[in-house]
Amino acid sequence: MTRKLHHFHGGLHLEFHKSMSMAAAVERAPLPKELVLPLHQHIGEPAEPVVAVGDTVLKGQRIARATDYVSAPVHASTSGRVVAIEERPVPHPSGLSAPCIVIESDGEDRWCERRPVADYRKLDPSALRNRIRDAGIVGMGGAGFPSHIKLNPAQDHAIETLILNGAECEPYITCDARLMQERPREIIDGLKIMRHALHARQCLIGIEDNKPEAIAALREALTAEESTFIEICVIPTIYPAGGEKQLIKVLTGREIPRNSLPASMGIVCHNVGTAAAVYRAIVHGEPLISRFVTVTGEACEQPRNLEVAIGTPVATLLDAAACRREAMAELILGGPMMGFQLPGEDVPVVKTSNCILALPSDHRRNGQPVMPCIRCGACADVCPACLLPQQLYWYSHARDMDRVQDHYLFDCIECGCCAYVCPSHIPLVHYFRFAKTEIWAREREKKKADLARRRHEFRLERLEREKREKEERQRRKKELLKQKQAGKGDEEDAKKAAIEAAMQRVRARREEQHAAAKNTAEPNAEAPATAETGRKQEEHGE
Ligand code: SF4
Ligand code: SF4
Repeated sequence: MTRKLHHFHGGLHLEFHKSMSMAAAVERAPLPKELVLPLHQHIGEPAEPVVAVGDTVLKGQRIARATDYVSAPVHASTSGRVVAIEERPVPHPSGLSAPCIVIESDGEDRWCERRPVADYRKLDPSALRNRIRDAGIVGMGGAGFPSHIKLNPAQDHAIETLILNGAECEPYITCDARLMQERPREIIDGLKIMRHALHARQCLIGIEDNKPEAIAALREALTAEESTFIEICVIPTIYPAGGEKQLIKVLTGREIPRNSLPASMGIVCHNVGTAAAVYRAIVHGEPLISRFVTVTGEACEQPRNLEVAIGTPVATLLDAAACRREAMAELILGGPMMGFQLPGEDVPVVKTSNCILALPSDHRRNGQPVMPCIRCGACADVCPACLLPQQLYWYSHARDMDRVQDHYLFDCIECGCCAYVCPSHIPLVHYFRFAKTEIWAREREKKKADLARRRHEFRLERLEREKREKEERQRRKKELLKQKQAGKGDEEDAKKAAIEAAMQRVRARREEQHAAAKNTAEPNAEAPATAETGRKQEEHGE
């Protein structure tokens, strides 16, 4: 039975330019002499180096560890020597540098020991997730969210449907299409591993209908038994059908509410590239150290799809695609709709880089002069997130961040549809990115201030508590002293009484002896019984 498909609001029918590289089978990109591996290639906390300058490393060896639950380790993409750990230019819209580990290749490309899993069905989901986390796998569709987290939904969210995103809706990009065409078995096996981790009942693979070869390859690779729980769904080509919420809407008809995750509705969505990376991590014990990248654009004489070691400089890939530098007017990482301009060719390919686009001046994206907004509403008509881009623009421009947030800025997926149709050529997405960065910076400042305030309050509380405890100790000490002194007085009295009693006894005994001597004792004939009788005897001459 054919699945009933649904529509999302807005979207665009674009010129896709995919034919430039669609027929180019994937080849290995040349391995450069030096690989630059940023510590922050994912959403979350940056990784922390576990190697030092001068260390020798093997291909696949972990060189930086994850520092948090939302973080991912980094592995050496070839064997060689660590020659620097320092700030280098990285692929980011800000154009800034960030900490990187630099490896000088020894040209041998020697693997470290790998630990494949013989049968993933014998591993429980948490052990599988740990393996996926340790392999440094992040969402390869561009978001870069650590994959083990998306494979670990909350206890109360049973996952009914696992969706693989093979839409690849951005113009020019064909690396996912080639992956589906050339390695369908890896994608299906990776999907089954993820299904095992999630206990999902059904799996859907969504692919746009402009990729017939990929659709055929996946259908051919699917066994009859797998077809009972995996469905390949061909969807209409409309940009941005590859957006997570948009693809879920098309395939299931369900809308993910604002501020909610698909998992809250029993749905998890991963990219086809992520599924292939999971397969390689579990079945071959290989961490994420390479990926497929499309190198294309009208400035390239030989547009290509390449398997690229993470950390390879963009310049190496432009050379491989015979890019005419003199014709190149804009160098973009990603597609023309959501990609951003690179500051130079020395930035490295990272885990989320899917396309290097070299455009000549007549294909530049932002060549037209910007004019005032005429409030035509065209931007709202095409917005797949049902936002009001002109209002967002207005408040971003005025730096009224409260109002921007009131207009759901963070629901914007930066698809660029609004800017594409704007007759005034306003670079709307730039404003939205700026506003998001500004709000994040304010949030960070607020968090810092809150933390400082909480620390201050905690300190005051501690001082107050210590003061109370000291007072209590002093009070107790005084009481004890009092009790002791009272005890000492009693003791002295008792002693005195005992002495008095002893003296009384002595006196009594003396008196008794005296009385006995006076009344009862016979005087001795030879010796005077007393001094008195002796004197009297002397007087009488006796
Ligand atoms: S499309 Fe451009 S000119 Fe029209 S309302 Fe939106 S921002 Fe304004
Ligand atoms: S960039 Fe944002 S505001 Fe513009 S159309 Fe896309 S989702 Fe809507």
